[in-house]
Amino acid sequence: MEMDTITKLNFLINDAGLSEPLRAIAVKVLNAERISFDEGVHLYEHAELSYLGVLANFIRERKHGDNTYFNRNFHIEPTNLCVYTCNFCSYSRLIKQREDGWEMSVDAMIEALKKYDQEPVTEVHITGGVVPKQNLDFYAEFFRRAKAHRPELHIKALTPVEYYYIFKKAKLSHYEGMKYLQEAGLDSMPGGGAEIFHPEVRTKIANDKCNAEQWLDIHEEAHKLGMRTNATMLYGHIEQFWHRVDHMERLRQQQDKTGGFQAFIPLKFRNQNNQMSNVPEVSVIEDLRNYAIARIYLDNFDHIKAYWAMISRQTAQLSLNFGVDDIDGTLDDTTKIYSMAGAEEQTPGMSTRELVELIKQVNRKPIERDTLYNVVTDYTDHMFEDASKPQYYKLPVIN
Ligand code: SF4
Repeated sequence: MEMDTITKLNFLINDAGLSEPLRAIAVKVLNAERISFDEGVHLYEHAELSYLGVLANFIRERKHGDNTYFNRNFHIEPTNLCVYTCNFCSYSRLIKQREDGWEMSVDAMIEALKKYDQEPVTEVHITGGVVPKQNLDFYAEFFRRAKAHRPELHIKALTPVEYYYIFKKAKLSHYEGMKYLQEAGLDSMPGGGAEIFHPEVRTKIANDKCNAEQWLDIHEEAHKLGMRTNATMLYGHIEQFWHRVDHMERLRQQQDKTGGFQAFIPLKFRNQNNQMSNVPEVSVIEDLRNYAIARIYLDNFDHIKAYWAMISRQTAQLSLNFGVDDIDGTLDDTTKIYSMAGAEEQTPGMSTRELVELIKQVNRKPIERDTLYNVVTDYTDHMFEDASKPQYYKLPVIN
């Protein structure tokens, strides 16, 4: 860690103008001690962005130095039809609006996968809506065929929202269902569907899908089977600060128990094309504060991830100073989830070179990783083939 980062934290701790509660939290961070629930709420209510940045960056650099991770992945979204009716969802079309939606067959999903045969991607990320036809047999067949076709491609698929529905229909326990799909080829689970766990909020925004206990239990069973998973939090809508801390507290306790979470991913609520369009979006300042508090609170999570496609490239760059160490991913315009909710990036895709340059511009080290955070390529000193050649621009010629 750079001396500068330590100096800044010590300087903050010795600042006579700092309140005692905030000084106590800063000392805990310096000593790698866990902060309490009440201290988490206190940060949300009273800490300024600059203070939070110093603490979060200190933890980020203690864990990862300047390393900033990304992966090369693509998405398959098997359907945007959904039996559920989450109010914040801009993506799903109800079954009765079937003509506006898509529903892929296993063959179509395998064709979508094959489009990347010549690409050096390491992961396929699969998630979408929930429909009866895409059941246990459907996904087991897809996972088997995908693995037979390209065994080294990591399959990160579905969330407890889909699994809860699928396992219930198949009359399997969470453990039996996860084991069956793992044997078919499933490697890990993304973090979606968590939203806000507390029932006071969850029943208002996502009343009919799996609840917090079911979400956490499916992750627990996946962890027991040796799978690694992620966790998200949808913030910035009708929840209060303590609901966010409650959400992170449940994740922190689960992680103490099973240790299988890799990354925490805060997801900003976007208000276009959904039933919560009357709820204003929070500011960029609040986005950064939230990343930083997540980094401070979740001491047992290795990574805090930002989806650049959701928050814009510039905010993603800024987030690297507020606790984030992972910017997901090259994407290649294969997801509609962010753009349909009104994200800045309407056709999200970034080449590896663009992503590397985005990270280098803010003096961090770009590291391509696989899903399990093994280093694929360290791009710190990498020169792209045409990067050293002078660039000439055609000038208009006036005859
Ligand atoms: S958020 Fe997921 S579960 Fe909820 S309606 Fe949208 S697609 Fe369905």
